Amino acid sequence: MTITDTARAGVPSGDPVPVYRAENVTRTYTQKGRVVKALTGVDLLIHAGEFVTIQGPTGGGKSTLLQLLGALDAPTSGSLRLGDIELASASARELGRIRAEEIGFVFQGFNLIPTLTAAENVDMALEPSGLGKAERAARVAEALAHVGLADRGMHLPTELSGGQQQRVAIARAIVKRPRVLLADEPTGNLDESMRDEILDLLARLCAEGITMIVVTHDSAVARRATRRLRLAQGRVTDITR
Ligand code: ADP
Ligand code: MG
Repeated sequence: MTITDTARAGVPSGDPVPVYRAENVTRTYTQKGRVVKALTGVDLLIHAGEFVTIQGPTGGGKSTLLQLLGALDAPTSGSLRLGDIELASASARELGRIRAEEIGFVFQGFNLIPTLTAAENVDMALEPSGLGKAERAARVAEALAHVGLADRGMHLPTELSGGQQQRVAIARAIVKRPRVLLADEPTGNLDESMRDEILDLLARLCAEGITMIVVTHDSAVARRATRRLRLAQGRVTDITR
């Protein structure tokens, strides 16, 4: 059984499994009476196992789209489904469950808590899970080992390189065993060799079945994509060659 088969378990083989389906999604912000259309009529279908990058100018709507996909924010209008769940109308409780179990987040600035060890930072993601202490510890150790940091669990973030800190952040994202990993400029704070190390890791996780959606300005990141999207003035275009 290949990784792709695993991702498709339970459905007839050959049919790609939709992960996200956006239909006519709009997100407007109103600030001091001024209306900003951050997203305008976005239609999007992302399947299991894809490595999608999103490029585009500042202010184009990339972070807004990632927030919607991450169930951190809701569309102003339109339909956005994760699997069978309509995110636009899901309850706060259901959205919380989805963020805790189905979606991993990785940010440019790593967002690790400086006073906690690597293992404690990873364990934070399991807080809402209701798992017991032993199961959590086993999952944390597994996630750290998976990103090549089995021996760094007791280190504080300041005792780790930038690339290692980002790997801790990725361990924190995958410890939930999510179906999707959303990343906003995950290599933006890294030098070239560390960037390639992180890209290799993301590509490996994608091959193992986690759908990857990465906002980036970096063409080296976009080269890893199976599909490249561009988001400008709130509209999505597919720029895959
Ligand atoms: P990007 O990530 O591509 O730079 P954003 O999604 O951050 O773009 O922003 C898209 C547009 O929405 C911009 O015009 C931005 O100023 C506006 N915007 C984003 N977030 C907010 C907010 N919380 N309140 C008001 N306007 C916002
Ligand atoms: Mg942004």
